[in-house]
Amino acid sequence: MRILIVEDESALALIMKFNFEQEGYEAVVAGEGVTALAAFRQSDPRFNLVLLDLMLPGMSGYDICREIRLIDQQVPILVLSARTLSEDRTAGFDAGCDQYMSKPFALPELLSRVRNLIERHPLDNSSLPAVPREPEPESDVREFGNAKIDFSRFQLSALGQTHDLTTMEVQLLRYFLDNDGKVLSRGLILEDVWGSDSNVMPRTIDNFVLRLRKLIEPNPSAPRHILSVRGTGYRFVTHPEA
Ligand code: CA
Repeated sequence: MRILIVEDESALALIMKFNFEQEGYEAVVAGEGVTALAAFRQSDPRFNLVLLDLMLPGMSGYDICREIRLIDQQVPILVLSARTLSEDRTAGFDAGCDQYMSKPFALPELLSRVRNLIERHPLDNSSLPAVPREPEPESDVREFGNAKIDFSRFQLSALGQTHDLTTMEVQLLRYFLDNDGKVLSRGLILEDVWGSDSNVMPRTIDNFVLRLRKLIEPNPSAPRHILSVRGTGYRFVTHPEA
């Protein structure tokens, strides 16, 4: 298991590297974006997870996150940041990160989150596909309304556009589809999609839902598929009544 640590505070980076190595991971440290992206592209086998600081010299963590998502939609990205504003979290999720952890953090919590994210996102092969893979894996496509989700490619087509999805977006959408029509509390969604020990805040779900609505709902402020259930959570409806 390989982890890419993108962190410019070298003392902190080395502490993390040491601790991950104690846990049996291979950890590579990059102090800024260009090095990090080069390491990510050249890595063989692939990295299983990226730990990403936001405040870095040169490229910001958000930009690095977006660049990584152009290369690899699946690798879990855990953002570590001293920024705690909800706008910062939202920007992180918009850029394609899967989880957000505020600094300072407790190492055992970081290790547990990393373990959890890696277990939930096993890599399907050991190297990055340089060219589109062929033959295509068995397709795993589901449709609802005007949306079509290709789970094997992490792609969503809706409203005339195709979008790449992050791992957590894919998992959340699949969960919604599997629980069509049911009222799902935020607590239940967190536990079933993120895992009971993930320490993700319930607000996180709202950020994901906002983004998914933008992608699939013709009018995101009057959603027909991902409905809010006041004070509780959400209800996904595959086929809204006319
Ligand atoms: Ca920093």
